[in-house]
Amino acid sequence: MNIALSHEDELLRTTVRAFIDNEVIPHENLVDRTGEVPENIGRAIEAKSKELGLFAANLPERVGGGGLTYAQMAIIEREFGRTSHALHSWAARPTELLLACEGEQVEKYLMPCVSGDKRELFALTEPGAGSDAMGMTTRARRDGDDWVLDGMKHFISAPTMADFAIVFATTGIDETKSGPRKRVTAFLVDRDMTGVTFREGTKCVSNRGYKTYELLFDGVRLGPEQILGEEGRGFELAGKWLGMGRVWIGASCCGKAERLMELAVEWAANRKQFGQPIGRFQATGFRLADMAIGLRTGELLVADAVRRADAGVMRDEDAAMVKVYCSEMLNRVADETVQIYGGMGLMEELPVHRLWRDSRIERIWDGTSEIQRHIITRAILRPLGA
Ligand SMILES: Cc1cc2nc3c(=O)[nH]c(=O)nc-3n(C[C@H](O)[C@H](O)[C@H](O)COP(=O)(O)OP(=O)(O)OC[C@H]3O[C@@H](n4cnc5c(N)ncnc54)[C@H](O)[C@@H]3O)c2cc1C
Repeated sequence: MNIALSHEDELLRTTVRAFIDNEVIPHENLVDRTGEVPENIGRAIEAKSKELGLFAANLPERVGGGGLTYAQMAIIEREFGRTSHALHSWAARPTELLLACEGEQVEKYLMPCVSGDKRELFALTEPGAGSDAMGMTTRARRDGDDWVLDGMKHFISAPTMADFAIVFATTGIDETKSGPRKRVTAFLVDRDMTGVTFREGTKCVSNRGYKTYELLFDGVRLGPEQILGEEGRGFELAGKWLGMGRVWIGASCCGKAERLMELAVEWAANRKQFGQPIGRFQATGFRLADMAIGLRTGELLVADAVRRADAGVMRDEDAAMVKVYCSEMLNRVADETVQIYGGMGLMEELPVHRLWRDSRIERIWDGTSEIQRHIITRAILRPLGA
């Protein structure tokens, strides 16, 4: 980020920038055209990211991760955001939920994800339960010491087929002051277990080549050792992950907005109409000014959130503000860049149309803008009992 980075952090930023520019961006066109990341390209990105210490950089050193601070991770996510998610996510940042692994789970799930020998999925969303995650119908019922899992998840995403999923399922009903509430438990579910199907789902036009999967569970028998964290506490685990994930989306949106803005500025300075660069027309120049203001504001929000996270005081509404502002800022920047390019903005030979398409998902996944605004509103009104 351009705000007073330490020497060490500036070195991190330039290392990641060079990695993205040299090892990732050259493959963008191929991936967007074919909708696939060829295995050899994905593996090369994975290998190079390991060499540079960027793989699993988010996890603590005690488990073999990079041990970076949240502020440093924001630098990485921002630079990664300059390119397609389908490509940069081969440089995995395994979910921090895996730090809840205990006993044999550590060697079976956490450590292989840190080394890149296994990949995980985070499986919360269902066809009938998106924003309303508590509307989930995937359930696990007790059978002796075991649990039997039935249901379906969709839109579960990863750069490539994963080995296991962290699956959220209801395991009962709690009576609370505000009425009955589903107990949600997180289970570690292997792809090769009996009754489990992982299959590719519908293709997304944002980040072409980044896969979404459908997960089907038909009478899957799970021992108690497959529970991640505590029974009935899955939602708390999920909430923890979603908060930081929203900040990473904000940082990534800043990276993409910066790249779009570079393209917009270049075009505004060089494209001539009526005998002068179009940037000299106030209608174009003011667009660039508004982009710069939006980008700077987004960066400050990210910087504030990671500072709070590193101090252990980040709240849900802090992450929600980052997500909603940065994703909407990026969409404005993307739309204005297309406008500045005119017809060329929609032509396949330039990257603008792809960045515009890739930007759209950011207002939807990890909680839509509307859901983020609900979180912020609740935080404002709750102290007044409203
Ligand atoms: C490419 C991709 C990858 C994804 N990866 C994953 C993944 O790895 N794991 C995972 O679990 N999920 C994943 N998701 C799911 C994603 O988080 C959901 O798509 C998202 O939460 C929205 O749910 P929905 O699509 O069902 O939309 P819906 O919930 O049906 O929402 C439709 C519209 O209604 C609005 N709306 C809904 N409720 C309210 C309300 N109370 N107030 C106001 N407006 C409301 C929404 O804001 C939205 O505009 C992914 C989705 C996509 C597209």
